[in-house]
Amino acid sequence: MGGEVTFSVVVPVFNEEPVIEETHRRLNEIMRKTGEPYELIFVDDGSSDRSAEIISRLSRDNDSTRLLSFSRNFGHEAATTAGLDHARGQAVVIIDADLQDPPQVILQMIEKWREGYQVVYGKRLERKGESFFKKAAASMFYRMLHSLSEITIPLDTGDFRLIDREVCRSMRRLREKNRFIRGMVSWVGFRQTAVEYVRDERFAGETKYSTGKLLRLAWDAVTAYSHKPLRVATYVGFTLSLVSFIYLVFVVVRRLGDPLAVPGWASIVVINLFFNGVILIILGVIGEYLGRVYDETKRRPLYLVAKREGFDRGGNDS
Ligand code: UDP
Ligand code: MG
Repeated sequence: MGGEVTFSVVVPVFNEEPVIEETHRRLNEIMRKTGEPYELIFVDDGSSDRSAEIISRLSRDNDSTRLLSFSRNFGHEAATTAGLDHARGQAVVIIDADLQDPPQVILQMIEKWREGYQVVYGKRLERKGESFFKKAAASMFYRMLHSLSEITIPLDTGDFRLIDREVCRSMRRLREKNRFIRGMVSWVGFRQTAVEYVRDERFAGETKYSTGKLLRLAWDAVTAYSHKPLRVATYVGFTLSLVSFIYLVFVVVRRLGDPLAVPGWASIVVINLFFNGVILIILGVIGEYLGRVYDETKRRPLYLVAKREGFDRGGNDS
């Protein structure tokens, strides 16, 4: 196996052909400034374009560049996980491939790490080039998560962060399928601090996060760190049972008072529809949790690697 490196940079890549070379160049430029050996781990998450080929070529000419190629698309969180699993550095940086997280911020993160912090996360001050809708949704998401989950996830942070080897080792022990890296880093604890930065526009290409994928991530985040939706379901169930019991008494009393009364069809239909709706929602919430339990019991690997290149070498010593 290759030698020691001080820094590992993990880059999840999914169809990033237009940016990947520039990202590689910028990361090398920044990491060389540290004066320490480093490695760049590109995790190709089953790209259908030439991303993997490009990285493979870059890795042939550059000792610090490594490629890990998945057998198919396993998702951003799985790609990040694979990077953490393979990182050998004393500190590991996670950064997106699209240059939205400015690489020069890594130097500030390293400074904080040298001061003794074990997790340094990037806190976004401003997001350029993202629609008002996405910003509003993101802001709402973080605030909702904050109030729903039982652990604190810092507001306005993405996956862009530096973690110490110790933290990385702890993260490797969390093998749940239902992953949300930001939440996991919060969960493991250790000494944490933030570095603030302005989020840039994508250098090129388009977002790989469809609204569907984002919603999925949001729901994963909530269910992974909180049982509150289940509790809310229980509360709603109890409250409605109480209300309907009171109504039941009322109906019985009225019926007894007036043996000939027939009307009331409308109210019965309304009540029926309403309660059926509520029951279906509650069942759905329970089903979501059950599905996650099922996923965990299968104990499948989080990702499958089809190809690895460059891992048998040491880092670039500049
Ligand atoms: N990504 C990935 N697998 C996916 C989707 C995205 O590895 O299924 C990578 C993508 O290449 C990028 C990072 O995850 O490096 C963040 O994706 P993107 O920039 O599209 O998300 P956004 O910044 O728009 O939230
Ligand atoms: Mg992006």
